[in-house]
Amino acid sequence: MLDLYEKASLDVYDIRKRLWPNKRQARLQMPSKPCRTRFAPSPTGYLHLGSLRTALFNYLFARATCGQFVLRIEDTDQKRLVPDAEQRLYEDLRWAGLSWDEGPDLETSNGPYRQSERLHIYKEHAELLLSQGKAYKCFCPPETSKQNETAASETSEQNETAASETPQPIREPCSCRFMTPRELDDRARNGEQFAIRFLSARRPVWIEDLVYGSFSCQHPSDDFIILKRDGFPTYHLANVVDDRLMKITHVIRGAEWLISTPKHVELYNAFGWQPPQFAHIGLLVDRHRQKLSKRENSANMAWYQQHHILPSALLNFAVLLGWHGHPEGSEVMSLREMVENFSPKFSKGDIIVAPYKLPHFQHQHLLRLASSKDPSDQALFETHLLSPVKAAIAAVQTAKDDGSPTAPGDIPTGEIGQQLPLRILDEPFRTDLLRAVRDAWEPLSDDPSSRFPLAVSHLRYFIWELPETKLEATLREGALAPVAPGMVRDALAFLSVKVGAVKESSWNGDKLSQVLKAVVADPKYVRLFGDLDIRQVGYKPMRWALLAMQKGPSIFHTMEMLGREETLKRLSVAKAVAEKVAASMVDGAPAADGAPAADGAPAADVAPAADVAPAADGAPAADGAPAA
Ligand SMILES: [Zn+2]
Repeated sequence: MLDLYEKASLDVYDIRKRLWPNKRQARLQMPSKPCRTRFAPSPTGYLHLGSLRTALFNYLFARATCGQFVLRIEDTDQKRLVPDAEQRLYEDLRWAGLSWDEGPDLETSNGPYRQSERLHIYKEHAELLLSQGKAYKCFCPPETSKQNETAASETSEQNETAASETPQPIREPCSCRFMTPRELDDRARNGEQFAIRFLSARRPVWIEDLVYGSFSCQHPSDDFIILKRDGFPTYHLANVVDDRLMKITHVIRGAEWLISTPKHVELYNAFGWQPPQFAHIGLLVDRHRQKLSKRENSANMAWYQQHHILPSALLNFAVLLGWHGHPEGSEVMSLREMVENFSPKFSKGDIIVAPYKLPHFQHQHLLRLASSKDPSDQALFETHLLSPVKAAIAAVQTAKDDGSPTAPGDIPTGEIGQQLPLRILDEPFRTDLLRAVRDAWEPLSDDPSSRFPLAVSHLRYFIWELPETKLEATLREGALAPVAPGMVRDALAFLSVKVGAVKESSWNGDKLSQVLKAVVADPKYVRLFGDLDIRQVGYKPMRWALLAMQKGPSIFHTMEMLGREETLKRLSVAKAVAEKVAASMVDGAPAADGAPAADGAPAADVAPAADVAPAADGAPAADGAPAA
């Protein structure tokens, strides 16, 4: 039933646009009267990104003009109905935050809003056209009469963009058109089944579109079917009759319908009705200009829900797919802000969907929630972030308690100690928590269950104690190279004194940042590293002591999050580990003891490779071997 978007016709449009450029300005204005728009999905599948966007544009148009948004269920394709699709549609639209003023589930006056309950209305209207000689009965077998429409429909379902390149042949009228009324009536009386065809004008019809401007198909419409043999209407008749009776003023729908719109306008003319304003929005394609893959588009709302995507983030992502009416520099918008800023500034042509932008909006909307005092925002933050993080932490702890070698997020359970108080979930540290979740979120994962365990993995030493064994192993593996263990020990000794001098009452990021900057600028500290570049190595001992070199927040922020007690404890433990490793690496171990000054030099001479060997064996004692 779908018709195809025809490129050749658009060239005609471009010429006309050049002739009347001022029309474009008028098109970009928002109507001053309340508008009525509709979203009319078929329950043959679930809501997905493309259909959500269509619903959103229609919703915004109605809300921005203080008009009404109508929900209509186009369920005339009974063979393809999905049993729970209609129910899921309501749930998904509500989840997204889009409310409607009229629809099948509401007691309102312009219904019924399910097309299957309106068959008598379509029949009446088809018969009206028959009686006026504007339509005729067609007795051709369905194979012939259906060929055109199913072919178009199938191609369109499978590949909208490829199909748009293929011009459709013009259909010659069948012989029924030339039969006398008497002949036709006789055949009908004899019980022969028939469809009703519209008697087309046989000349191109021009339409006005808010996006494409003046538009006409290259070829005139054929005599298309409006009522099928089985009494069901085609889309052409049903959408025209419904939009008229439901007093729809603006129709915003996918560009694949543009090519059919002249047919619809012919029908409006035949009934003597004023057509609504049309806005045909670009098709969503991937960066190869192909129809979106399952992950990118056909993914229904459940997929986003499982990924804990915020409805506001998804709407923000969707609204920018073909609309550019937002003020410059304010891409991040709530639904309310979209309504306030809405105007019909739609883009023409295919819209390339960049999936990486969704995590961006998710992050931005979570940041907004994190700083909001509104209880409903806090509840969203809890359900979309804190709860899944807590669940992931619990899962890791359970794996550890059960003695599994690895926990979700690929955390080796032997590398984490006792659980700490979960300060990372406290309000002051939310941006750090968000960053960790974001890092785990990109690239977009197919597996919704992996995201939060990965974030927990990134933050593991804010949640669990850092075991001495893990510290020792990383140091022996050369994670700090070229900084030698002796240097690490001395740096930590220096640092412990400076950091230890910061009182509990002034233990905050700003103060710690000052202290650390002073440390790395202190000539005594710089000298500990010999010829090494302090800018490259100055913070390494601290990151190792606090996080075993795990990437994460800045060091001073890490210290703030860990708290004074835990920070000083880790510095002290790490100093002892560095001491032990440094001692084991020097010939005649006792010599290293008590002689920190001497230590710097010889330890630095030991090639990093030498550090690695004993550690790999896990037998520090083997280090004594170089006796040779
Ligand atoms: Zn026929």
